[in-house]
Amino acid sequence: MIDFELTDEQRLIRQTARDFADGEIVPRARENDRNEHFDTELVQQIADMGFLGAIVPEEYGGRGVDYRTYALIVEEIGRGCSAMRTVVSVVTSLVCSSIVRWGSEEQKQEWLPQLCSGESLGCFGLTEPDTGSDAANLKTRAKEVDGKWRISGGKMWISLGNYSKLALVFAQTDPEKKHKGLACFLVPTDQPGFTTQAIHHKLGLKGSDTAELALDDVEGDLMGEVGDGFKIAMSALDSGRYSVAAGCVGICQGSLDASIAYSKERTQFERPIGSFQLVQEMIADMVVQTEAARGLVWRAGWLKDQGKPSTTETSIAKLYATEAAVKCADLGIQVHGGSGYVDDYPVERYLRDARVTTLYEGTSQIQKLIIGRAYTGLNALVP
Ligand SMILES: Cc1cc2nc3c(=O)[nH]c(=O)nc-3n(C[C@H](O)[C@H](O)[C@H](O)COP(=O)(O)OP(=O)(O)OC[C@H]3O[C@@H](n4cnc5c(N)ncnc54)[C@H](O)[C@@H]3O)c2cc1C
Repeated sequence: MIDFELTDEQRLIRQTARDFADGEIVPRARENDRNEHFDTELVQQIADMGFLGAIVPEEYGGRGVDYRTYALIVEEIGRGCSAMRTVVSVVTSLVCSSIVRWGSEEQKQEWLPQLCSGESLGCFGLTEPDTGSDAANLKTRAKEVDGKWRISGGKMWISLGNYSKLALVFAQTDPEKKHKGLACFLVPTDQPGFTTQAIHHKLGLKGSDTAELALDDVEGDLMGEVGDGFKIAMSALDSGRYSVAAGCVGICQGSLDASIAYSKERTQFERPIGSFQLVQEMIADMVVQTEAARGLVWRAGWLKDQGKPSTTETSIAKLYATEAAVKCADLGIQVHGGSGYVDDYPVERYLRDARVTTLYEGTSQIQKLIIGRAYTGLNALVP
């Protein structure tokens, strides 16, 4: 039986994350967004709170919390600022959880403590200029020379790519083997042949770093076996999509909170606008979507904590919560009228930041194909 009752410890961690988001993240979100500033000081504070790598076992420097507790933390950070939530999602879910699950003992000892402490950042290099949704069709190549793996190719849209000390790079070792030739490599970025370029002028996530990576004969440390690459990418996304979904619950809640407050203070026709039925309809729509998104995230988290399969339920949560975040932020602007169109209030940033969540870590269309495949037994993803 699913039990959504929070433990005392979970309530305490949520309150700590909430206070931290309100005290440290919210006050800096607008300026960082305006200045396209990737706030590494704030990232360090997030790490100092134990919010980077929270699901990583304590022996490797994490907090060893369960997935439901992780969602509570990510929701609060997502309510504060999606650029910072992206850091948590990438480092914790895409990078650390992959190393926890697939890394050798030596790889875990080397990388996890420095990622959890914020001493180093890590990025996840799957997407390429010509390869997005069709993630198995990679052009980046890896070959073994004198017992060492050398990698060449390019990666596109990589979050934290300009600031990371470690890149998880997915590459093809033998194109004839198709997805069975894919492998994942731990690539230290401070080596010759590894270069990055910042991607500017994004619609949102302006306080987040996004990069294009170029790899010219760089050395990589194989994680898992050759042929595990696709499985590693999919297991990373199972955790990453959950994290994105939890962050989107934060956007929904933030949009709702801002709209309720504004609807009570703004008067028109000599009444608070919140007293008009059509404004209450918008608020009610936001409440329902926020609660539904949170319920789906918590269900996926509960399954993960029980060690049960959760891929489909994670896709359902990701699809619903990301689309709900876009809709709630949009409704939030509507409630604020003209004031919602400038950054005096957080709702316009919420909308710009939410927009990428239906694209990255698998677009909404790809989530629908995953859900459709699970329920029909027919795979529409393969040509
Ligand atoms: C700000 C930002 C940060 C990102 N961070 C990372 C990162 O850290 N690491 C990383 O590896 N990637 C990252 N990405 C890349 C992201 O995951 C991809 O953009 C996403 O997977 C979609 O790939 P694409 O852009 O190539 O679109 P495409 O795959 O070309 O898709 C274009 C459109 O076609 C649709 N489509 C494609 N195939 C199908 C199909 N079979 N059936 C129906 N519709 C289909 C898509 O749904 C979409 O609507 C990031 C992207 C952005 C914008």
